[in-house]
Parts: sequence; structure tokens; C-alpha cells
Amino acid sequence: MWGAPPERYPRTAYLLVVIGGLLIALLAALSGLVVWAFQSEVSEIAGVSVSLSPLEIFELVTAAALGLVIVYGGYSFRARPASARTWGLGVIVLAIATVLLDGGGDYLGAILVIIGGVIAYRWKAPLAVPGPTGGWGGSNPPPPPPPTGPSKFCTTCGAPNLAPARFCARCGAAFPA
Ligand SMILES: [Zn+2]
Repeated sequence: MWGAPPERYPRTAYLLVVIGGLLIALLAALSGLVVWAFQSEVSEIAGVSVSLSPLEIFELVTAAALGLVIVYGGYSFRARPASARTWGLGVIVLAIATVLLDGGGDYLGAILVIIGGVIAYRWKAPLAVPGPTGGWGGSNPPPPPPPTGPSKFCTTCGAPNLAPARFCARCGAAFPA
């Protein structure tokens, strides 16, 4: 990837953040579902009662929701590269929140998201973007040339004439004042 032409969006950050966000969301959802679905079996095997407290359920649901917001943020790196800096900071904050929420356990997703967020934050959109997708960060189009061509048409023969002309250059008809 080094020495390659500038990317039109922070691709590495996009991949890291989408994968990390999915990991956070899926692991939270899966761990909650597994404990909920098998709590009687798990309790039997473990010999102690295993169940989710309302607080744990709240934390898992919130972690899953934050994971999905992170996925959306990663996707926005690609859909709207101009927002990469803002969303880069956003996903870092969200990833830290999921770590604080989930007291221990899986940090892999959060680490991927934080690395991707830093990359996105530091990413700079290429200044000159050739092609039809330009328009962000590019320069304005050059101003139109001053009007030197014909600016009115003869009502008699239809020939183009310059604006100051008082008579048609082709047929000689007088223009209304
Ligand atoms: Zn004319």
C-alpha cells in the first residue's frame, strides 16, 4: 500500500472500523443470547446459578448498539470521505465507551476500531481528484470567458449578431432600439 496513489477514502480505516464494530456488536449480542438461551444448562454444568442481571442485559444491548453505530461510522469513511476526521474521532470515543461498558473480556474489536479511527482522523483527502466523483476538496471550475460571441439573433433572418449591433450583419434589417 505504501507508494500507491492516494486513496479516495481511508480504506484501511474503513476495513478496521467496520470489522471491529461488527466484532463488538456480534460478540455482545452472541454472549447475551448464549447465556440467555442456555442459562439452565450452563448453571447445571457450572454448579452455580448463571443468569443475566438487568444491568448486564442493558450493557450487552448498549454494546451491541454502539458496535452498530461504529460500523455505520466506518461505512461513512467510504461513503463520505470528507467526514472521515469527524467520524474517526467518533468511533474512537465509541470504542472506548464499549470497553468501559464491558468490564473485561473482548478488546480486539475495540482495538481494531481505535487503530482505524486514528488512521481515519489522520487521513487527508487527495486535493485533486480527477473523474466524475470530484467535487469535495477540489478547486472551483474556471470562470466562464467574457461574452464575445453573438448575443442576439436577427428577427428577420435569424442570423447571430453581437449585442451592440444596430443592424443585422447578414440582411441589414434594423434592430429595435
Ligand atoms: Zn438579418
